[in-house]
Amino acid sequence: MSGQSRGSTTTSTSTSTAGAINPFEVALKQLDEAAKLINLDAGLHQVLAHPKRVLTVSIPVRMDNGEVKVFTGFRSQHNDARGPYKGGIRYHPQVTVDEVKALSMWMTWKCAIADIPYGGGKGGIICNPKEMSDGELERMTRRYAYGIADIIGPMTDIPAPDVYTGGKEMAWIMDTYSALKGNYVQPEVITGKPLAIGGSLGRNEATGRGLSFTVREAAKRLKVNMKSATVAVQGFGNAGQFASQLVEEQGAKVIAASDSKGGVYNKAGISVSALRKHKEKTGSVTGFAGAKSISNEELLEIECTILIPAALENQITGRNAGKIKAKIVAEAANGPTTPEADDILYKNGILTIPDILANGGGVTVSYFEWLQNLRREYWTEDEVNQRLDRNITKAFSDVYETHEKYRVNMRKASTLLAVNRVVEAIKIRGLWP
Ligand code: NAD
Repeated sequence: MSGQSRGSTTTSTSTSTAGAINPFEVALKQLDEAAKLINLDAGLHQVLAHPKRVLTVSIPVRMDNGEVKVFTGFRSQHNDARGPYKGGIRYHPQVTVDEVKALSMWMTWKCAIADIPYGGGKGGIICNPKEMSDGELERMTRRYAYGIADIIGPMTDIPAPDVYTGGKEMAWIMDTYSALKGNYVQPEVITGKPLAIGGSLGRNEATGRGLSFTVREAAKRLKVNMKSATVAVQGFGNAGQFASQLVEEQGAKVIAASDSKGGVYNKAGISVSALRKHKEKTGSVTGFAGAKSISNEELLEIECTILIPAALENQITGRNAGKIKAKIVAEAANGPTTPEADDILYKNGILTIPDILANGGGVTVSYFEWLQNLRREYWTEDEVNQRLDRNITKAFSDVYETHEKYRVNMRKASTLLAVNRVVEAIKIRGLWP
């Protein structure tokens, strides 16, 4: 098996599943809207509509029962005009090439909004990690790392964790890459690593912390008092848990939370730390003492001040957007709101803090981790959090100003701001050759 090719480079287009919302089409539509608003040159629009490279790799893995199973993995590199590609790797049965392409484009915008010197990338493997042993996961991860090793690197493309991947997988990728490329330790090839091998303090909480800063800023603009605000969180995973904890620390009351198994609701408030302990022990938020069971659909529609979608794409759609009662929707997840739903929320006076702004804390602290690795130095948690606050607060204010200036919703404002920044870099660098 070891002589197998490292995969083919393609730039194939849409492979939308019949009936499902194709995330890449959503991303293209958002780009079209921004292009129209800023009168973008048609050629540059085309450049941005195509990822620079999409690599598909097949990943043969010896499973624990002795059989060989071949998984499919992707790495999409959207644009590197402002710096190396940056973006997570997700393990999920529903990963598609179009999802990865869309996510890589959103990473380009996200890094531009956060004003960090990166472009956008994203990776994924079609698999169900919940049904795999640690040994199988390690063999799959290392073989995927081998498959993409020639297109990633500390100065070219720096992956990170995403859905159902974390420090463990990042460590295997760093180790495999380091062994393949000179056999010396190269922590700066990947971020989201455990502390013992060059991870950054504050990285685990970064997405949730960044989101809590954007919520704080939005509340100031809308004159919402955080002390009387209520919060519902769909997806009580890494991003959702820290986001809940940190908005709770600002005085808000979390009244509902959910995960893939279902949701819980208590109008009087749910202690985030108690719910985390319950989830740690039982594997789910469901069955939490004193709370009522609700479905994920019901959670989105409950009466609350702040709604935090922190699970998967396409949760707020044309079908349920009209029923959302929150004042602020802060998107921890990537792509949770469809364009049709966006327009409905905007019309109903709901302020959406879009994913590319709201969850930019993760990539910002990833950038801090990379800087620390390159310099072989380490910052205190306070230093990380203060720098993060400065970056995110500035990003929020840049987007909010654009939103007011162009009279468009916050997502259009974010994309517009990002496209302008990326286009400026492309123009200055020029088209090669
Ligand atoms: P995670 O795997 O830690 O958590 C995901 C959570 O969502 C889990 O609790 C899972 O049970 C739940 N979930 C899955 N399907 C669901 C459904 N249909 N309804 C309700 N809940 C469901 O992943 P994460 O890292 O927290 O990522 C969540 C989202 O945030 C993703 O869209 C990811 O791209 C985005 N995000 C995460 C980070 C980060 O640093 N963790 C950074 C940027 C964006």
